[in-house]
Amino acid sequence: MRVNITLACTECGERNYSTVKNKRNNPERLELKKYCSRDKKMTAHRETK
Ligand SMILES: [Zn+2]
Repeated sequence: MRVNITLACTECGERNYSTVKNKRNNPERLELKKYCSRDKKMTAHRETK
């Protein structure tokens, strides 16, 4: 049930993080607050393919 995902910044689109998620625990798209190196601030990062 664990799948690899990429997290992309919702403000600039930069793909800053990759992680694994558990599809059973998180069937929806993940959205996390992460530091974006391009924006130089905390932004929301969303799961992409
Ligand atoms: Zn960004």
